[in-house]
Amino acid sequence: MSDRFIPLIDERSLTHPLLVPQNAVQAKGILSDQRQRPLRDLRISVTDRCNFRCQYCMPKEVFDTHYKYLPHADLLSFEEISRLSQLFVAHGVKKLRLTGGEPLLRKNLEVLIAQLSRLKTPDGGPLDITLTTNGSLLSKKAQSLKDAGLQRITVSLDAMDDQIFKRMNDVDYPVEDVLAGIASAQKAGLGLDAQGHFSGLKINMVVKRGTNDQEILPMIRYFYGKGMSLRFIEYMDVGSTNGWQMKEVLPSKELIERVAQSFDIEPLQSQVAGETAKRFGFKNKLGQLDPSLGEIGVISSVTEAFCGDCNRARLSTEGKLFLCLFASEGYDFKRLLRSGANDEELTSAIAQVWGQRQDRYSEIRAHTTTLGESAPKDSLTKPRVEMSYIGG
Ligand code: SAM
Ligand code: SF4
Ligand code: SF4
Repeated sequence: MSDRFIPLIDERSLTHPLLVPQNAVQAKGILSDQRQRPLRDLRISVTDRCNFRCQYCMPKEVFDTHYKYLPHADLLSFEEISRLSQLFVAHGVKKLRLTGGEPLLRKNLEVLIAQLSRLKTPDGGPLDITLTTNGSLLSKKAQSLKDAGLQRITVSLDAMDDQIFKRMNDVDYPVEDVLAGIASAQKAGLGLDAQGHFSGLKINMVVKRGTNDQEILPMIRYFYGKGMSLRFIEYMDVGSTNGWQMKEVLPSKELIERVAQSFDIEPLQSQVAGETAKRFGFKNKLGQLDPSLGEIGVISSVTEAFCGDCNRARLSTEGKLFLCLFASEGYDFKRLLRSGANDEELTSAIAQVWGQRQDRYSEIRAHTTTLGESAPKDSLTKPRVEMSYIGG
């Protein structure tokens, strides 16, 4: 085998102590961490299992038949997820993203979506509920997800070329089936906005230099004119198993320069604070921005840290709250829930945990890692949870 690093400890067992604070805290619709960042976005991992083995996320060598996934009793139930979500929403969370692992593998996920879609923000508004999927079960599930109340969806697709895509998912899964899933999502009206564009239907492509960067332009050509948003994600050093190397990262700046040689694009204003993607629109033949052509976005998690306004928390499959994608320990909300904590105690615990938050991993990495160096140093080398467990 290559130089892949396989962890000898299971980071899932690392847990920050989580005690109910002495003084009860009321939810006021806004929380602030140590760097004055609010909590707006909760990503919920509903399963740690997946039917793909993307090399950058769940490499086959590690996630093989011997890998111990969480037993069902350790997963948060739908009722537990809904109860916690409601308390997070009271603290100002406006967006819930279901993820995993592959979220569509969780049985009866529609039941959870229906429960979540009944939640309201403190001022009575609707929540933004979305889901990230590899698309493999979408043809079957798009309509029932929509009927359950899902509004938006993100589908991951890393290449148009079948051979390259199969190599990346490592289970021989064909492009054609993901495209069929995307078509079903459109047919069900997932992501359709008032203007008749699919602005809430996003396609995520992780770009690895030397593996699929030749697929950037074919991907744009395929999705051009379909009203969707195609986003290019820099390959990240999440987890400890993917053998990440800086030389395999294609900086977004370089990606945009390449795209601009073939397409007339223009930067778009950000829509909401804490937006992870820098967005670009396409101009039509008259030189005007035309939303019906769709848009592209770049997520520069490695080369341009956006920790400064990171308003995201992640709830792992077994109910641990992680304050950063690169954290090594989570706060065990499942234990608190199952010990009989009441809503006031849980609300206070959320406020305490977020109030202490200082995380800014990407900023620290940016200061210590320069292009060409392969390994992050010192504080950056603590064991980290896998993305399939914590949720992307
Ligand atoms: N299975 C679903 C999927 O693939 O869309 C949801 C979970 S996946 C962990 C969420 C997102 O994280 C996907 O878009 C995936 O491509 C991205 N991702 C996983 N590992 C990554 C890495 N090392 N660098 C950048 N993005 C990654
Ligand atoms: Fe599965 Fe998504 Fe990870 Fe690929 S990126 S292995 S589809 S969880
Ligand atoms: Fe947020 Fe952590 Fe990513 Fe920074 S590194 S943007 S704090 S998740």
